[in-house]
Amino acid sequence: MKRPKSAAERKARVLEILSRLDKMYPAATCALEHHNPWELLVATILSAQCTDKRVNEVTPGLFAKYPTPKDFAAVRPEVLAEDIRSTGFFNNKAKSIVGAAKRVVNDFGGVLPRTMEEMLTIPGAARKTANVVLGTAYGIALGVVVDTHVQRIARRLDLTHATDPKKIEDDLMKTIPQDRWILFSHQIILHGRALCQARSPKCAECLLNDLCYAKDKTA
Ligand code: SF4
Repeated sequence: MKRPKSAAERKARVLEILSRLDKMYPAATCALEHHNPWELLVATILSAQCTDKRVNEVTPGLFAKYPTPKDFAAVRPEVLAEDIRSTGFFNNKAKSIVGAAKRVVNDFGGVLPRTMEEMLTIPGAARKTANVVLGTAYGIALGVVVDTHVQRIARRLDLTHATDPKKIEDDLMKTIPQDRWILFSHQIILHGRALCQARSPKCAECLLNDLCYAKDKTA
């Protein structure tokens, strides 16, 4: 496919990409198991440099031991670190989670806030994490989750030329309709795991192949 030139052609291409993502990943959702926004925040903090599968092995026992933010706020980080050791970087993650719990209990009445500004005051909740929690737990689309898969694939699909995550997010917020921001991230993250891997993407199996101009395409 030739690169679209006009704004209308570019818009049509983006809508076609979204339509094909729906065909490939119709039920895309967050792979981190959780029962409420607080649990999703904890799981997202634990998922840094760790697989979702490993996090999902740890969190049921963790949430049984510490059922509420108040319980996490009362534990010493060095004690919590032992509970989450298998997720890696456990000392830093424990400090973030205990700090987050204290903030949520002391400043937000034990309930995670619903605005980006407030979320960004919580230890361990940078913009990506805040977008995950607001989007998936509350259904509030205030931004686009930009993780390593979204960074790579948004560039491959020519949806951005930026390398800085915030600039990539700004480009995606301009390009993708807001009512698709939450689903788009879930679909692209799944796509990055299933087909569009960093080293050797499986382009022959990809429904986006004829819309993709990536230089490192394999077919
Ligand atoms: S064609 Fe290849 S590089 Fe392009 S989105 Fe599909 S898997 Fe990724």
